Amino acid sequence: MLNTRHASAGALLTVDLDAIRANYRLLREKLGGTACAAVVKADAYGLGADRVAPALAADGCTNFFTAHLDEAIALRPHVPAKAEVFVLHGSPAGVEGDFVEHRVIPVVNSLEQIDAWTALARRLGSKLPAVVQVDTGMSRLGLSKRELDTVAEDPGRLDGIDLRYVMSHLACAEQQSHELNALQLANFQAARARLPAAPASFSNSSGVFLGQDYHFDLARPGAALYGVAPVAGQPNPLHSVVRLQARVIQVREIEAGARVGYGGRWTAPGPARIATVSTGYADGFLRSLGNRAKAYHGDAALPVVGVVSMDTITLDATSLPGPGIEPGALVDLIGEHNPVDAVAEAAGTIGYEILTSLGGRYFRTYLGG
Ligand SMILES: *Cc1c(COP(=O)(O)O)cnc(C)c1O
Repeated sequence: MLNTRHASAGALLTVDLDAIRANYRLLREKLGGTACAAVVKADAYGLGADRVAPALAADGCTNFFTAHLDEAIALRPHVPAKAEVFVLHGSPAGVEGDFVEHRVIPVVNSLEQIDAWTALARRLGSKLPAVVQVDTGMSRLGLSKRELDTVAEDPGRLDGIDLRYVMSHLACAEQQSHELNALQLANFQAARARLPAAPASFSNSSGVFLGQDYHFDLARPGAALYGVAPVAGQPNPLHSVVRLQARVIQVREIEAGARVGYGGRWTAPGPARIATVSTGYADGFLRSLGNRAKAYHGDAALPVVGVVSMDTITLDATSLPGPGIEPGALVDLIGEHNPVDAVAEAAGTIGYEILTSLGGRYFRTYLGG
């Protein structure tokens, strides 16, 4: 369910498409001559692939990655006809024909996927485009060492594949000194040498910041486009993309010792003013943010006190001078003072999860594009 009424919405989500475009240009600059795709899986990390993809296409992006076939089919009308749409999970058995019908390119991850794709190519009597993924140390998707041996010893197995890229995925790229980065790079170079010559795709957002050795022919950033910091422990060079504002429903004065919220998990240390705000865990404001996160009223920090309810949170507004805050006022839950990564840290998670959790009840506004 997407909320379409501004006046009645409990919270407002603003997505800055121009900031996403600026982030894309920044990544491209960082990449030098390497092409830059956009990963728009999970509805562009919750921000709306139907709006994000056309904005990036306007900046020259011609390669888009989704996770699922259905996401790719839904994306097709929103990208130029000449754009390529790739599906990271490859094809579930039996629906390979849908990829051809919708002109979507699978990332084939296993011998089974390779064989099913080449079988279809034989039936159709023409080569079919695919990306071959190899596992270089993450143990998640892609050909294992043993599967790579099988293919290397029997290269005919790839007959029928128009090999667009050989690809792999980094497990620890946001930690620049992690030993797995260089190991995966070496494994990737070795794997490429055993496969037919083809362009290569290796880096996600954080990989782009590991330097030129990691760039190859096509980078696949997602999170960085949406403003998530790519390098652990370093300032974020990207533009922030998301603002989340929620409405105050009610304000009350409570006495010292009064409890707030389910389980009575916050107790007023003195007389306090509590503002109840219209967002909760059903909107993706994670329950782990209870007693942890801060909202902002202008520049003033208002701590979330008590647990997060399904539809509401409670803020300690005692510190605000004068009449403080009134019903109808908007507070920032994600914004200038509390960017996605700060909210994620308070929740004990990563910015990716904050973005992909953003709910359907928010009234969404897109800036620029
Ligand atoms: C999600 C994903 C990406 C994008 O990763 P970010 O860290 O968001 O840049 C790239 N490649 C693969 C295989 C992925 O699963």
